Amino acid sequence: MQQRIVCVSVCIRPNLAALFERVKNRSAALSVPNQSPMGRFLKRHLSVTQLCEQSWCEIKMAYGFIKPKVRMLEMQNTEVTTGASIYLARELEVKPNVVTVAAVTREDREALKLINMLQMVPALEAGQLVREFPVFGVLEGMFFMGVVDELYRSDSGELVLSELKTRSHNSLPRPAQTKGHALQVCMYKLLFDSMVKGSVKRDHLLHNLQLDPNRVLGSDLQTHTQSLGLQAVTFRELLDHLLVVLTCSNLHAIDKLRLENSHQSSGKLIGTREVAFEEAQLRTNIRGYLAYWRGERVPQGVEVEEAWKCRMCRYEETCNWRRDRSQRLMMVNKSQFGVS
Ligand code: SF4
Repeated sequence: MQQRIVCVSVCIRPNLAALFERVKNRSAALSVPNQSPMGRFLKRHLSVTQLCEQSWCEIKMAYGFIKPKVRMLEMQNTEVTTGASIYLARELEVKPNVVTVAAVTREDREALKLINMLQMVPALEAGQLVREFPVFGVLEGMFFMGVVDELYRSDSGELVLSELKTRSHNSLPRPAQTKGHALQVCMYKLLFDSMVKGSVKRDHLLHNLQLDPNRVLGSDLQTHTQSLGLQAVTFRELLDHLLVVLTCSNLHAIDKLRLENSHQSSGKLIGTREVAFEEAQLRTNIRGYLAYWRGERVPQGVEVEEAWKCRMCRYEETCNWRRDRSQRLMMVNKSQFGVS
């Protein structure tokens, strides 16, 4: 049986001075002109889902940082939140033996993920299905993190990466929605493949998450690692062990990418889609998205062909891009057709 450790009793020591400093830095960073979004939003790395949001509308994603309260309201109503029971049911299908340990530091929290991964690798090697497998690494010069929904071997032995999407409508999503989901699973594949190939280096994680490699793991965690036969006292020792396990495992690159759509209210499967993996095109797209984060270009909102996205957007009333787009369109109509 797979074991999953969770930290229900999180007791990260509050460092109020550091917290105030972060709030101060954030306010200062937001007011500095000509900063790249990475600097402006005090980011050292990106999540895969951030790029997927960006593929929907860059302006909307940027508003999420500038107007976080609106974003929080939206998150509470998303299909992911309301489909939480489906995710929970999936989790229970795997029936992990849940062990609770206390995390004292940020390194402890990250160590929990690494220990879970250390237990998922042999399970996957043995042909079991694993859920919520963390992936991380550098793509096109940027450190990314993500969590894969499901990994398993198909009947023919292929390694399959599957992402569950819940939907309020009992129909498959539109191509515009599938585009972001496809980007997500393709990026997960790039990250997973580089992890098992040994391309992920210890310093990538330490530097980008600003973790102390010499931090001694909390006593609860040490007791747990010893019970698993692991000799790791510091965060660095645990991370090194994981990187070796990943590269020495019999796991190879992902063979198949799959999107699974389920109906929220009934929980029934709507359909699955296989996603094609075109690495060169994918990397070109990632570089295009990163150009915004690096401050090499301004963010782009949706154009008139996809104006339907604005009608379901919480920023519709206040969005400058949408207002300017309407004005641009009126000017074109006026000059070309004499229509006001
Ligand atoms: Fe993007 Fe339209 Fe929303 Fe503006 S209103 S943020 S252009 S989706």
